[in-house]
Amino acid sequence: MKIYEYQAKEIFSNSGIPIPQGRLVTKQENIKGELSKLSFSKYVLKAQTYTGGRGKAGLVVKARDEKRTLKEAQKLFKRVDKILIEEQVDIKEELYAGFTIDKSRAEHRLIFSCSGGIEIEKLSRDHPEKIITKEIDIFTGLLPHQLREILVDLNFDKKIKNSIYRTIQSLYEIFIRYDATLCEINPLAITDDGEVVAVDAKIIFDDDALFRHKDILKLRIPEDEEPLEREAKDKNLSYVKLAGDIGCIVNGAGLAMATMDVIKHFGGSPANFLDIGGAAKSVQVEDSLSIINRDPDTKSIFINIFGGIVRCDEVAKGIVRAKNKLNIDKPMVIRLIGTNDKKAYEILKKEGLSPYKNMSQAAKAAVSGL
Ligand code: GDP
Ligand code: MN
Repeated sequence: MKIYEYQAKEIFSNSGIPIPQGRLVTKQENIKGELSKLSFSKYVLKAQTYTGGRGKAGLVVKARDEKRTLKEAQKLFKRVDKILIEEQVDIKEELYAGFTIDKSRAEHRLIFSCSGGIEIEKLSRDHPEKIITKEIDIFTGLLPHQLREILVDLNFDKKIKNSIYRTIQSLYEIFIRYDATLCEINPLAITDDGEVVAVDAKIIFDDDALFRHKDILKLRIPEDEEPLEREAKDKNLSYVKLAGDIGCIVNGAGLAMATMDVIKHFGGSPANFLDIGGAAKSVQVEDSLSIINRDPDTKSIFINIFGGIVRCDEVAKGIVRAKNKLNIDKPMVIRLIGTNDKKAYEILKKEGLSPYKNMSQAAKAAVSGL
């Protein structure tokens, strides 16, 4: 689960990480009135989005006085509903500090760089030598010497080094306490006055651990989420939007990956993935088809189900019901195999649908049928 910068900054602030002074302003509010409550010498307006790279997209704007801030806010409100208005910080240096999970090594990882401000993906591509990473053993946790190793070579005075140390340590505590998959400060700024300030804040939480973080779940703003994603979440289906044009319904994460690979292999590109899960009934299949069918990027539908606990006849019933109820006119390729598949084939054939058994043949048909 993602949260907005202003929400992440509140968590930062509660953990003692210094953040700039600021105020969230929404479209519905009286911007002028809200602005008059702030008395900053200069401002920065930050559109609140769940995606990064706002600086480049013109969604982070500096303004030197209240009047200009008002003007810029009105412009930004044409694109977003929430803006964080902050006191502009005089930045001398931009650092990067972040924690992630290295799944392949079953370790946590601290990433640090003195060249912050740009996206870490870009930095690691163009200047990998400027990135320091520390593997964190999950049993010992982040060790003080690992932070000292990073700080020892930095050209800052002791007070600044102490602040960086405390900030990274607090960031790690947040990362652990909330079961985050990413905690990132980019840039972590050193100001002209020698203060250390988190100018940006990003936290992504592990969805599978949210059940034990009720306070984090409260930060979810359903009306700001993508409507189809929200609907899927509410129905306990996992839906992932992608860039292509073949809508995919699968069961299980492994089959989702395999389906993507085989579609790519035959030259196609998935528009999305909807995983109905390992124990789905016909109603989940019907809901899935309804969601996929409303994705405007879906030009054809590929249903790839391996019947285990999920019974193929249930899947077939769901497909038939959805097809008749929703008047789906997009080409549909069905590949079903496993528990009760014979029954499923009968149900589908009665409706004039001919399912595939072989995954490659089905994928080929899904790709060429466009
Ligand atoms: P992102 O592009 O979505 O990661 O948004 P950021 O919050 O990181 O802002 C983008 C860039 O704007 C930062 O890397 C800074 O260089 C700049 N920026 C943001 N806030 C301030 C500020 O208060 N003062 C100064 N000087 N620059 C800022
Ligand atoms: Mn940033």
